[in-house]
Amino acid sequence: MSSLFPALAAGRDDPRPALRFGGRVLSYGGLRAAAGALVPRLTGARRVAVWATPSAETAVAVVAALLAGVPAVPLNPRTGTRELTHIVTDSAPSLVLAAPGDDLPAPLDGLPRVDVAPHAREGGAPETWPPAEPGGEAPALVVYTSGTTGPPKGAVLPRRALAASLDALADAWAWTADDVLVHALPLFHVHGLVLGVLGPLRRGGSVRHLGRFTTGGVARALADGGTMLFGVPTMYHRLAEALDTDEELARALAGARLLVSGSAALPLPDHERITAATGRRVVERYGMTETLMLCSVRVDPLGAEPPHRPGSVGTPLRGVELRLVGDDGTPLIAYDGETIGEVQVRGPNLFTAYLNRPDATAAAFDGDWFKTGDMAVRDPDGSLRLVGRRATDLVKSGGFKIGTGEIENVLLAHPGVREAAVTGEPDADLGERVVAWIVPADPAAPPPAGELADHVAAQLAPHKRPRAVRYLEALPRNDMGKVMKRALHG
Ligand code: ATP
Ligand code: MG
Repeated sequence: MSSLFPALAAGRDDPRPALRFGGRVLSYGGLRAAAGALVPRLTGARRVAVWATPSAETAVAVVAALLAGVPAVPLNPRTGTRELTHIVTDSAPSLVLAAPGDDLPAPLDGLPRVDVAPHAREGGAPETWPPAEPGGEAPALVVYTSGTTGPPKGAVLPRRALAASLDALADAWAWTADDVLVHALPLFHVHGLVLGVLGPLRRGGSVRHLGRFTTGGVARALADGGTMLFGVPTMYHRLAEALDTDEELARALAGARLLVSGSAALPLPDHERITAATGRRVVERYGMTETLMLCSVRVDPLGAEPPHRPGSVGTPLRGVELRLVGDDGTPLIAYDGETIGEVQVRGPNLFTAYLNRPDATAAAFDGDWFKTGDMAVRDPDGSLRLVGRRATDLVKSGGFKIGTGEIENVLLAHPGVREAAVTGEPDADLGERVVAWIVPADPAAPPPAGELADHVAAQLAPHKRPRAVRYLEALPRNDMGKVMKRALHG
């Protein structure tokens, strides 16, 4: 397979910016020298763990591992001891790469440590380029899933999956070397690492990482040359709230070429507030650790706004084959926007297996189709709307299959509601009943349960009316801001 990063071939003196973390800029030449210097230290290792702080060191470490042909396992520096121990035991890395000065916790004690120097200009950097990058099926990354529905599983991603998915996104988003990505996501998941760091590097563009998400930081970076923003719904929610008063932010977002949201559904009220304040539409894309990216709303290369379809994640990306499958296991032919099926996919973007989990790998496939566990409907134009996960976002009540996302969106549109999640719980009569978990906008005056239930029933159908409303101070969320519904029922 050809190089994952053709832009690194230009040479050690290439001044084009590749990475900017805070005030530190690393050019393509500098990245090549820094990563190249690490390659000899990694060659022959079975796997390397990367202490994935939001830093240039993390980017350099992962690029070096990819150049060395050694699978990298990004570790979440905020993970608790138990989960970290699980991941380290499961992935059994030969060593850990970290930034000088990073304190590594006990589960990493037994591992040799190699410090990453992002500004190394001498040392073992190879004179000949490219280093012998391996073939497309060779494992490139082992990325652990977000753990939203159970303990994280290590998805083994081969090199061809990275290349295929990043190139398909370039096709859908007209993504080029001129793009400057504004980035504030963590670097231990596919979204922040593969799309957010490897994506710009594969295109020959650049990434500007804010370290920490703030609405002011996003406004400044976009006003100062940033062309795209990748975020998760919790970030767009904060942007939507800030837009009420921040005109500088509105101008900055209005001027961006592309605003992308993914990892979880962006609530409709947030879509609408952002569009009202900026005239821009947030593009939603849908993907998973195991499959990288699957669908996206497509962007007009000439810059016209995408069609206004909040709630749609667009059409399958180039190379992705996608089908919806009914409960009886047969593919659905409906393009009616109503018939719910499980999303199953195949294509060059797929992982090869869950590490050490042949059982889970086998259970996840139907032949060569990967069963995502996500439920969706398909609109007449072929675009997809996700209804939710089979395991947590589908309530089977009184003979109906009810997607929780729709009810959550209606609850969120109520002025007394700040956050909302809907689940099902066992009910003697109905099989399951709809339960709403609410974070009130004003904790001193939560909207009454009856009022919320009536609000849902008035906008949707009577069977979607919540049978119980529970009030919380905050919803349980993981590091990606995803609601952990399995924690709600205790
Ligand atoms: P785990 O598999 O460990 O339970 P996870 O599924 O949350 O965790 P990820 O691979 O990070 O781990 O997330 C993929 C899931 O995120 C998808 O299966 C889908 O349910 C959800 N998702 C991703 N993008 C979107 C989107 N645009 N809208 C709605 N849901 C999305
Ligand atoms: Mg998952």
